[in-house]
Amino acid sequence: MAGGGVAGYAVATLLGRAGAKVELVEARSLAEPAAAGSGIMLQANALRVLRTAGVLQPVQDAGYGFNSTGIRLPDPTGRLVAEMTDGRLDPDLPAAVGIARADLTRILHERALAVGVTVRGGAAVTAVQTQADADSSTAAVTVTTRGQVTVENFDLLIAADGVNSTIRAMIGIQDEPRPLPLGVWRVSVRRPPSVQRTEIVNGGAAYFAGYAPTSQDWMYAWLVDDYTDRRQLNPAARLDIVRGLAAGYHGPWDEIRAGLTPDTPVNYTRYSELLLAPPWHRGRVVLIGDAVHACPPTMAQGAAQALEDAAVLAHLMTGSRRRRRAAHRIRNPALPTRARRRRRLDANGGLAAQPGTRRRRRADGTHQPAPRPPRITRTPHPNRPPQGTSDCDHAGDLSRTDRHRTRSASDQQAERSRHASGRRSSLRDVRARRVAALAFLCQVRPPLRVRCRCLGLRSCSHGFWQPGH
Ligand SMILES: Cc1cc2nc3c(=O)[nH]c(=O)nc-3n(C[C@H](O)[C@H](O)[C@H](O)COP(=O)(O)OP(=O)(O)OC[C@H]3O[C@@H](n4cnc5c(N)ncnc54)[C@H](O)[C@@H]3O)c2cc1C
Repeated sequence: MAGGGVAGYAVATLLGRAGAKVELVEARSLAEPAAAGSGIMLQANALRVLRTAGVLQPVQDAGYGFNSTGIRLPDPTGRLVAEMTDGRLDPDLPAAVGIARADLTRILHERALAVGVTVRGGAAVTAVQTQADADSSTAAVTVTTRGQVTVENFDLLIAADGVNSTIRAMIGIQDEPRPLPLGVWRVSVRRPPSVQRTEIVNGGAAYFAGYAPTSQDWMYAWLVDDYTDRRQLNPAARLDIVRGLAAGYHGPWDEIRAGLTPDTPVNYTRYSELLLAPPWHRGRVVLIGDAVHACPPTMAQGAAQALEDAAVLAHLMTGSRRRRRAAHRIRNPALPTRARRRRRLDANGGLAAQPGTRRRRRADGTHQPAPRPPRITRTPHPNRPPQGTSDCDHAGDLSRTDRHRTRSASDQQAERSRHASGRRSSLRDVRARRVAALAFLCQVRPPLRVRCRCLGLRSCSHGFWQPGH
């Protein structure tokens, strides 16, 4: 594993838990906090993966869960104009948890160690050698640890080295993230009681200003402005800019501003985006997380998508043979499925039978399909309730299949549509949340429109989204 961010730790933990021998190298020293002064919102799909990795409880304990988002106006009272219920993918999970990035990294780090992952801090992957066609059985990885260079062989290198990945170029992918014209100021302050969920104020001195709780005691706030190179500014000058931008926001913002002290760390980051065309691997090196797809933070989905990558990759590497075959077929749709192969064999009279298709060899050397098991016709049980009822008094006499059969067609149809509508409504929730998140972008300034065909929104003058994305 190269990179000890969300993606790196998650996939290392999931693989380590399944018994793989995993070494994780992280360029940053482990003593150095990750993205000081800022928090992160983990939405329901991120929480689901964290639950699989076994860290949901510590994340919930350290963070702050909530189920709705508020929209306020940049007026003298910070009037609340909308409240949206956020989509919950699972009734056991909140819609989102806010947490300090440093806490999230610490929890993931501890869990990785607990499942047997070896973690090396201050060690960066500085070169990779792999055959593009995956013929070689290992990747030769050069790791530089505080000036000391070693070359080691691994079965697989998973590169989760972030949006500015250097491993991307090492394996011949030349794409770079596209810098966007917005920059975000982030500060962490004590949480006033009024801050209990994500709230956004559209308009005002910044494009938009938001905040979210990250624990019982702390929260973080952000202000999005036109990007300017502010690397030369000292901490006091940065804080002055934040105070100036925040001055026009009210409601909970009054308490947030009051909580800013000269010691408050201020983080300033430029927005960028990246989406690599597949494949996301070369030979024995696979890229995941921001290294392949970094969405602008407005969606609060980057880490969640990185966690989904981790879950999918770990699943493919450790899941059942049947699932791995299914994934292989998705990547290679031209491959015949077992059913299609069987149909073709039947059409050929079984002549092209292959191993594993349960054919019987005829005496003349050709193949014929195995006979189907005889169809069972059931005579009604004297105690069975009449067809079309779902009375379960007799359930003790009936097998599960029989019970299912005794339900009327309309019952079964009703149940099927209940399931389908449940699926549809949870999809609707996710989609509504995505539309709402993108709609923020549309509202911030009139010419700023989101170009996204699938959501039916209009084009973006800043080019955030490519057509068809
Ligand atoms: C302002 C802002 C706000 C955001 N808010 C949210 C949010 O609320 N919710 C959300 O889901 N997402 C959010 N995101 C996105 C989220 O932060 C990223 O998508 C996520 O951190 C990506 O994780 P990663 O593991 O892929 O990469 P990273 O977190 O960037 O980790 C990469 C790691 O690799 C290490 N590394 C780099 N090069 C090497 C090397 N050669 N060898 C070894 N190690 C190396 C780096 O030191 C780093 O630790 C936000 C992003 C920004 C910029």
